[in-house]
Amino acid sequence: MSYKDYELNVGMEVHAELLTESKMFCGCSAHFGGPPNSDVCPVCLGLPGSLPVPNRRAIEFVARTAMALNCEISSPSIFQRKNYFYPDIPKGYQISQYGDDPIGKNGYLDFEVEGEMKRVRIRRVHLEEDTGKNMHNPAGYSEVDYNRSGVPLMEIVTEFPPDIHTPEEARGYVMALRAVLVTLGVCDGRMEEGSLRCEPNISVRRKGSERYGNKVELKNLNSFRAVYRGCEYEWKRQAALYDANPDAVIPQETRRWDDERGETYIMRTKEVEQEYRYFPEPDMVPMVFTGEWLEEQRKQLPELPEARRQRMIREYEITPDDAALLVGDIPLANWYEEAAKQTGQPVEVANWVKGDFLRLLSDARIEATAAKVTPDHLSGMLKLVEAGTINRKIAKTVFEEMFNTGQSPEEVVKAKGLTQIADENALSTMIDEVIAANPKERERFLAGEEKLKQFFVGQVMKASRGKANAALVNQLLDEKLK
Ligand SMILES: [Zn+2]
Repeated sequence: MSYKDYELNVGMEVHAELLTESKMFCGCSAHFGGPPNSDVCPVCLGLPGSLPVPNRRAIEFVARTAMALNCEISSPSIFQRKNYFYPDIPKGYQISQYGDDPIGKNGYLDFEVEGEMKRVRIRRVHLEEDTGKNMHNPAGYSEVDYNRSGVPLMEIVTEFPPDIHTPEEARGYVMALRAVLVTLGVCDGRMEEGSLRCEPNISVRRKGSERYGNKVELKNLNSFRAVYRGCEYEWKRQAALYDANPDAVIPQETRRWDDERGETYIMRTKEVEQEYRYFPEPDMVPMVFTGEWLEEQRKQLPELPEARRQRMIREYEITPDDAALLVGDIPLANWYEEAAKQTGQPVEVANWVKGDFLRLLSDARIEATAAKVTPDHLSGMLKLVEAGTINRKIAKTVFEEMFNTGQSPEEVVKAKGLTQIADENALSTMIDEVIAANPKERERFLAGEEKLKQFFVGQVMKASRGKANAALVNQLLDEKLK
């Protein structure tokens, strides 16, 4: 049987580090990258007698995310202690929001995948704290860095039974969710740096079967592509196990994705659910949200990605795919919208953005906000094309040069001598030379091989190093080839 004869079921847990200045329950800096244990205090080190004070901004961020994901807001919403013992949890417990009253619950996210709208239901959006980081020294002992201990972490969990049934949907969900978080300004969305981590739990069952298989949790998916490939790999792997033995029991386990080898491998088996002995956090009162406060949060919601995508299709008449590509990359979408407005040529700008601009950004590994080329530059360049100063081919060179140097299009054209040759005398001489150098082709052209005209156009373009005005070349060739 093909693996596609089995149903794939994917539940998704996403952890997002919140963009707050300080940690969740103390005033330590939440910024990344300080020397080990430089951003710590008695609270985030779990010293006896210290008391947590919740971060108001983090609660606002989670409430706004919950609203953007169409959730109900629980009020009161409470913190709980999740008890477990690892060195990276100095208190012996993590403060989390287990139970029926996370800040947000029963929501959904709509997004487009493969040209169709898809809805994935969200079970909960809640707040917790990050743990420290264990570092295993090759000399045979471990050290712990508590800088991340207590950094606010938002967890977003999809509903069961799962709505995600293909790798495309899994990737589409993570892309859409990331776009929401970045648009809200609550998370920087950097999957490769771990500030957005997604852990799908994946099971496979024969189509029509009533029981779900055991869930396999995947770790270390740090790109959209890895989400896709990891889900696809597990679909095939688990289907093959059932193919070999229809009564197989897939072990419930945690597996790690190896991006280079394109495989998952086992990290640990989960034979029994760990007993966390949750109980309400006695050091904090339940959070009660007033109508006024909720209204205030709702007012802070910006235009969300799906609404923006639909507006862009309407307003700029670009394709749904182009619009989806843009809203998936907020700095790029902002750049695009500014350029579209300045030039009044939204479709033309979309072509430049998804082609040359995106390629250059990806080669340079930067975001649109860090690019030296501005919407103003593109606007000026398109004017030069319209005025006939440069042709389209040269425009590509100009764009790349603007990208690399931040020079204006006029400066680039001048510095590199790229002005289009539209001088009839100059072109005329060039064409005479080309015709004289290719007498056989001319004879064949005169004998009726009309497509050879393109050969001459090409030769003239080559002789002019791409700078000849194409319309004029065509016109002059028509006269001279006779
Ligand atoms: Zn602290």
